[in-house]
Amino acid sequence: MDEFIKELDASLDYLEHEITENEVIIYVASNRKSGSCPYCGCDSMRVHSRYEKSFQDLPIMGKKTKVIIENRKFFCDNPDCTFTTFAERFDFLKQNGKKTKRLIEKIIDISLNTSSIAASRTLKGGIADVGKSTICNLLKKRHTTP
Ligand SMILES: [Zn+2]
Repeated sequence: MDEFIKELDASLDYLEHEITENEVIIYVASNRKSGSCPYCGCDSMRVHSRYEKSFQDLPIMGKKTKVIIENRKFFCDNPDCTFTTFAERFDFLKQNGKKTKRLIEKIIDISLNTSSIAASRTLKGGIADVGKSTICNLLKKRHTTP
């Protein structure tokens, strides 16, 4: 399980997991010592607060996977920065994204070879909860981003 999480991002540590009827829930924590302000690039070690954040990742053992992280908010101590706090970010997840990039790639992969309705049915069977419209949007974005 730790390997699965490390492949996603080396700065994540696996804590524990639970398996329910239809999903695997993995709890993780960031092992970075500091956060980097996305607005000015300054590093900060001063934690402002923590909040729970969850996202979907690649299926494990044929079950949907949900990852839960206690995400940190840091103070930005740069007096010239327009922001005083910022949330820790990860490359595998778009800002406010609910699915990891590797899961989105898999969804696109499956959707390219079938209709969006069939893809949605296949995906809901054990990969991710995605509706027909989400699949269409993902495919559209894929064509517009170089
Ligand atoms: Zn800043």
